Amino acid sequence: MAQYDVSNRSAIVTGAGSGIGRSTALLLAKNGASVVVNDLNADHANAVIEEIRAAGGTAEASVGDATDAAWIASSIELANSLAPLRIGVNNAGIGGATAPTAEYEDEAWDKVIAINLNAVFRNMKAQIPSILANGGGSVVNIASILGSVGFAGSPAYVTAKHGVVGMTKSAALEYSAKGVRVNSVGPGFIDTPLLANMGDEAKEFLVSKHPIGRLGQADEVANLIAFLASDAASFITGSYHLVDGGYTAL
Ligand code: NAP
Repeated sequence: MAQYDVSNRSAIVTGAGSGIGRSTALLLAKNGASVVVNDLNADHANAVIEEIRAAGGTAEASVGDATDAAWIASSIELANSLAPLRIGVNNAGIGGATAPTAEYEDEAWDKVIAINLNAVFRNMKAQIPSILANGGGSVVNIASILGSVGFAGSPAYVTAKHGVVGMTKSAALEYSAKGVRVNSVGPGFIDTPLLANMGDEAKEFLVSKHPIGRLGQADEVANLIAFLASDAASFITGSYHLVDGGYTAL
C-alpha cells in the first residue's frame, strides 16, 4: 500500500462507490483522511464506508448526484464537520453513449458533459474556497488518456476529458500561490465496472493499445491520486498525470 500522510483533514471523493473512486477513498482513509464517500448508489457508498470503518478509518456516506448544486453544498458542510476539508477528488463519471460524431444524440452529449465536465467544475468551484479557508490543500480532477488523445465513437467523453485537463490548469494558475494545488489524472483503460458492458473482443482490443500488455487496476490509479492529494506532492500543480501502461507513448 502506498503511504502518504493526509491526516488531520477531510477529503471529498465523488463517485466513490465503485472503481477508481472506491480505491481512492479506501487509500486516503488508510493514510489518515476522513472521507466523504459520494455515490448515486446508496448500497455501494455504504459498503465503502463500512470497509473504511472496519479498517479503523473515518468516513461518512453522502448519497447524491454530484451534478446537483444542493448536494455539492452539503458535501462541503459534511466534510468540514469531520475535519477541515483540504482534499477534493472529482472522480464521478460515465462512459456515455457511443456513436460517430454526426450520429451522436444531443441528449447523450448533454448527459456526458453534465457529469464528466460540468460537475467537475462545480465541485471544484465549491471546494476551493473551503480549502483556502482551511489553510490550503489539493484538488485532483479525474480526466483520462482521452484528455489528450481522441477515441472514435466517444466524442462527448473525449471533449469532457480534454475540458477537465484545461480547467485544471486554469484553476492551478489562479490558486496555487494561495495554497491550493490543482492537478488532473489521466488513466488508461482500467478494469472497473465502467467497462462492464464491453465484450471480450473489445477488451482484447483495448489491451493491445497498452504496451504494458494489460488493462490497469483501480488501485494503481488510486496510488497516484493519493500521492497528488498529499503534502508529498507539494511542488506539483497545474499538471496532467498519466497512469496509462504506456498507451499514449505508442
Ligand atoms: P465506475 O466503476 O463506473 O465508478 C464510477 C462511479 O461514479 C459509480 O459508482 C457511479 O455510480 C458514480 N457516478 C456516476 N454518475 C454519478 C453522479 N452523477 N453522481 C455521483 N456518482 C456518480 O467507473 P471508474 O472506471 O471508476 O471511473 C471513475 C472515473 O475515472 C470517471 O471519471 C472515468 O471517466 C475515469 N476514467 C475511467 C477509466 C476506465 O477505463 N475505467 C479510464 C479513464 C478515466 P453508479 O454506478 O451507481 O452509476
